[in-house]
Amino acid sequence: MKCPKCGIDDDKVLDSRAVREGAAIRRRRECSACMHRFTTYEEIDRDEVQVVKHNGSREPFDRQKIDKAIRQACGKRSVSDEQIRSMIDRVVAGIEGDEVESAAIAELVMKELHAVDDVAYIRFASVYRKFTDVAQFLSAITEIARK
Ligand SMILES: [Zn+2]
Repeated sequence: MKCPKCGIDDDKVLDSRAVREGAAIRRRRECSACMHRFTTYEEIDRDEVQVVKHNGSREPFDRQKIDKAIRQACGKRSVSDEQIRSMIDRVVAGIEGDEVESAAIAELVMKELHAVDDVAYIRFASVYRKFTDVAQFLSAITEIARK
């Protein structure tokens, strides 16, 4: 890790521990040149997981895509950065095995958004579930109204 103070890439790790329910590892580091102490976070990104898309093609799981989709859905809503990060962490933690269907990931994301913000949920669901008719869209709205 490059020291944020002097830029030299030579440090030792003083302490490592799991944070955010095991979704990340926090490391306390000390620069060997200037003794400056800093903290880094290592996130479990599960890029070894293969995502199976609708058309049957596969691609490595990409945490950034989930991040982008959730942030897009939450745009201008009062959802904090902290909440967004926890949602992403739970989605990543919810992936089981080393192969997952893209629809299953979308379901995990919808579950998280549903619990946090109705508008964000509807935004996401309307894109990913691709509501084919008004009735489908209305039933999603009704489901929310019943909460
Ligand atoms: Zn330094």
